Amino acid sequence: MKYIGAHVSASGGVENAPLNANAIGAKAFALFTRNQRQWKSSPLTKKSISLFKERCEEFGYEAKHILPHGSYLINLGHPDPDGLQKSRDAFLDEMQRCEQLGLDRLNFHPGSHLNELPVDDCLARIAESINRTLDQTAGVCAVIENTAGQGTNLGYTFEQIAAIIDRVEDKTRVGVCIDTAHTLAAGYDIKTEQGFTETFRHFDEVIGFSYLRGMHINDSKKDLATRVDRHDSIGKGVMGMTTFKMLMADPRFDDIPLILETPDESIWAEEIGYLYTL
Ligand SMILES: [Zn+2]
Ligand SMILES: [Zn+2]
Repeated sequence: MKYIGAHVSASGGVENAPLNANAIGAKAFALFTRNQRQWKSSPLTKKSISLFKERCEEFGYEAKHILPHGSYLINLGHPDPDGLQKSRDAFLDEMQRCEQLGLDRLNFHPGSHLNELPVDDCLARIAESINRTLDQTAGVCAVIENTAGQGTNLGYTFEQIAAIIDRVEDKTRVGVCIDTAHTLAAGYDIKTEQGFTETFRHFDEVIGFSYLRGMHINDSKKDLATRVDRHDSIGKGVMGMTTFKMLMADPRFDDIPLILETPDESIWAEEIGYLYTL
């Protein structure tokens, strides 16, 4: 079974996310557990936490179908010691928020070398950041999202992600989220049946489906190998419907959160309904 949802607003408190997800007929959802554009946020209140849990139960959202997204400010491979420490502190805080909310995974962008670190050193640094965080937390899996490879962002090849996972000590608490728009922009041609099949064969060989903890289901404004990250609504970008049909028909994508991060939230309910018809 497929669990499709969207990255919904948690404005006014995390407890509003399950309400917003239910309102659009989502069977899964993503959220920010704090303001994603600020380094510091006030702790979650007991009331927010208990309401979040109550509402998830009421609407039937299990932890394995909820994929919180980390702050865009965090760079776990930061070349500079201060920037790295700030990022590690913020990442730990987000993992702890997930623990408090009873969630079992946190999706994040791996990091950027900022032209100051060799690629492999940056990947090793990201893995070290993950190891340190896993040592201080329990029960939450660090889910690395593949990127479009824009600027100096790493994680745009399956090999780079595998190089991070290889260095993570607790393999049971590291996973991967594949974003369809990022995958295409990074140079994997998932627009055709053959390209989709080959890309995910390669994914399975290099990383392995056992690590797949979620997907971001987005069309892309930017085409193959442009290395530019611009999401579009389903069917409105360059992707074409083959990608989404293949995905919906493939049981390897069952039972994980499939999250829309498409730009027009007024049509999320429609997009979810449409994907289910495929
Ligand atoms: Zn993301
Ligand atoms: Zn994404």
